[in-house]
Amino acid sequence: MRFQRKFRCDFCASTESKPYLKTTKVSWYGKDRFELHSCVNCNLVMAFPRPDRDALYKDFFEGADSAQRTITRKLSRPNVLAVHEKAVERAEGFFKEANDGRRPKVIFDMGFGAGTLMEAARLKEMEAEGNEINLAGVHRMQDLGFNAHHGFTRDLSLEPERFDMVFNFDYLEHSYEPFQDLKTCNALLKGNGILYLKTLYLDCPDHLLKGPNYQLLGQGHFSYFWPRTLLCMFQSAGFEILELRMTGLIYIIAKKVGPPLPKISLNFLDHRYAMVEEKTPLEVHH
Ligand SMILES: [Zn+2]
Repeated sequence: MRFQRKFRCDFCASTESKPYLKTTKVSWYGKDRFELHSCVNCNLVMAFPRPDRDALYKDFFEGADSAQRTITRKLSRPNVLAVHEKAVERAEGFFKEANDGRRPKVIFDMGFGAGTLMEAARLKEMEAEGNEINLAGVHRMQDLGFNAHHGFTRDLSLEPERFDMVFNFDYLEHSYEPFQDLKTCNALLKGNGILYLKTLYLDCPDHLLKGPNYQLLGQGHFSYFWPRTLLCMFQSAGFEILELRMTGLIYIIAKKVGPPLPKISLNFLDHRYAMVEEKTPLEVHH
């Protein structure tokens, strides 16, 4: 496996990083040990060094047996269609609120996996489109008559401002360019469109309790998010957060309020420093 050994933050473009975690408890690709680095500027955490992307996903891209097995496993999850129907309904509620009660008609699923969310949207009479690198998943959806694009998000030319809602589930942690992908979500959406995203986050209960044994370290995950950094990324990509839920994973529902900001915003991070610098001392009674 080839490795990339040059650090460049996808969010703020800083090339300065500091080690965040080095562990032998995670199995990784080849003989390199699993290591996470944190951007010194925005705290985005990334696997570093990381394998060359094209070499890593070759089997998925070519639809090898392992690609088919992944799809079969995803389809066998209990109630997967019902869970995705609920997710579509949830986003639909926010869409209607932001769009004078109008129903969403066209949705996009970034990294659709087996495609069950797109099927759920079709059951609700929406038109669904999406992209996926797993060729077996793409063929499955094309056979079902969906417009399913094959490839990494950044390599596709998709029609801008065509979609009412974009879904991004269990995707961003796999991405090498999470901020660029959020900007693509923004570009795909019409004004007031809804993005519904789910990913992992640092300091979640499992991470706090298990530390380097946290089960989501490794596992093909290359980007790791502090909630504050993730919120900064959303804001900078042109979104307003409408709902934030944090359980084992972080769920964000956001509305497109404009194009990405010309400069990245670290507002959610600045807030922490503003609190520290608060001039009025708290009264303390003994
Ligand atoms: Zn950064």
